[in-house]
Amino acid sequence: MLGDLHVHSCLSPCADITMTPRGILENLEVGMISITDHNCCGNARTFWKVCRERKVIFLPGIEITSIEEVHILGYFENLEDLERVSKVVYEHLPNVKNDPELFGYQLLVNEKDEFTGMIEKNLSLATDLRFEEVIELIRRNKGIPVPAHVDRRFGLLHQLGFIPDLDLRIIEVTRRESMLKFRRKGYIVLSSSDAHSIDELGSRYSIFPDGIRSTIDILTNIVEGKIKTIWDTM
Ligand SMILES: [Zn+2]
Ligand SMILES: [Zn+2]
Repeated sequence: MLGDLHVHSCLSPCADITMTPRGILENLEVGMISITDHNCCGNARTFWKVCRERKVIFLPGIEITSIEEVHILGYFENLEDLERVSKVVYEHLPNVKNDPELFGYQLLVNEKDEFTGMIEKNLSLATDLRFEEVIELIRRNKGIPVPAHVDRRFGLLHQLGFIPDLDLRIIEVTRRESMLKFRRKGYIVLSSSDAHSIDELGSRYSIFPDGIRSTIDILTNIVEGKIKTIWDTM
């Protein structure tokens, strides 16, 4: 079974406005997805409903920006835990109103693909939470923290230059060489598309064993390292 656990919806200012539930699900070729918008999960419930109708497993997720401008993914078993984290993250964003013309629209959407509102604060800015505080926030709410695209801009190695000693076992990479390097060090490696537009969907994904039925199954397989990346098939 294939899963793409890093996709941005039209809520992320940098994502295309065509990244709506229908836009994404009609072009999706994997059976599991996580919508990981920047610093807010405002569209998670809508996607959860639409995914359920289409028999796609939806993993609640978010991509949080720490004060060091490190991007960290958080994955959760249920929506309530995600929403609690998202609320805290939003409170820690600077009080700066988004300018859609400059940064892009931050659109809330319903199951019929209708835009229902906009998020006020600029979600592309960094929170005032330190990296370790973000990790702690995710864990305290029963989530799994995964440093995003560690090998490129806004990734942990790129921003900090090292991996802090916080018992981080799972990371996301964007290249085969990084996968090999981190596996040698004992890390569990995820590969996802980080799609911001329809044509980027499926550009990377992770491979799970068959028989996954729930968010718990996804999280258990990740934690137990039973996943492969797109480069394992090449
Ligand atoms: Zn990112
Ligand atoms: Zn992203």
